[in-house]
Amino acid sequence: MANEGKFIHNALKQVHIDTSCSMVSGFSISGLATYLQLPELDFCIDMGECPLSATSLNHVFLTHAHGDHGRCIMRHHSLRKMMGVERDSVYYMPDFICDAAKNWIRAEAIFEGVPENKFRYPDIIPVSAGELQFLKYRKDLALEAFEVKHSIPAMGGTLYYYKKKLKDEFLSKTPTELIELRKNKVEITREVYEPLVSFMGDCLGESLLDNSRVFQSKVLITECTFLTPEDEDMSIKKGHSHIKDIAKALNEINDCVKCEKIILSHFSMKYSDKMIRDMVNKYIPEKFKDRVEILI
Ligand SMILES: [Zn+2]
Ligand SMILES: [Zn+2]
Repeated sequence: MANEGKFIHNALKQVHIDTSCSMVSGFSISGLATYLQLPELDFCIDMGECPLSATSLNHVFLTHAHGDHGRCIMRHHSLRKMMGVERDSVYYMPDFICDAAKNWIRAEAIFEGVPENKFRYPDIIPVSAGELQFLKYRKDLALEAFEVKHSIPAMGGTLYYYKKKLKDEFLSKTPTELIELRKNKVEITREVYEPLVSFMGDCLGESLLDNSRVFQSKVLITECTFLTPEDEDMSIKKGHSHIKDIAKALNEINDCVKCEKIILSHFSMKYSDKMIRDMVNKYIPEKFKDRVEILI
């Protein structure tokens, strides 16, 4: 395409960003496609495209119904079957889109000529805001979704690492004493949920402050569709974040930002690579610059 180089930064090329929780691999360009793979957490965020590298991952979270985020969910499901992966993949999605998703999946199967008696829904798990649930095949990881403001109903989410830790009062005990306590049915551990990765999906910038707990996660992945002063009105109209909103949230949360990495994604395809780097450098507050990475 003659225009591709001019208008679309990094079109369809998978990008990799290393974090302490997992590699984050994927791409995300507003309106074109968004998918992110986190292999060490066996988790995908959205499935606007489905490269072969996504097929080994068992858990997929769909943030909202827009096609550039969800259109390859069934491709993921069927590619796995074609490649001989026997385990059923799991598709987490906001409870309010599950019925429509099922209708769409069924319609697609009919369109492809799948006989009625062979049709089977994939494993769809509805997710409600504020409810914590363990991933089907990773009982050390729990997902908590939250609602965000977008042009249609949408959710973001946080993945927590779950572990049991020895209660403080037993830290000085010897192994023999601990075994004895256990025998006597004393609860010597407490449950700990460590926030690893939060992802915002598509949202207005104010959703960051509405869900400020996301700044406690080691990694925050947030959309940053618009960059220029002329596009501020557009960001509100379309239900997307402007880089000024992200800078504002960072300044407000300030010292309470615990993220080791903040990944900005989902830039509008009208911006060039250079423009994105220049604007991020211009707007992101100095003290956060070394933590911010751009997914381009
Ligand atoms: Zn989008
Ligand atoms: Zn959207």
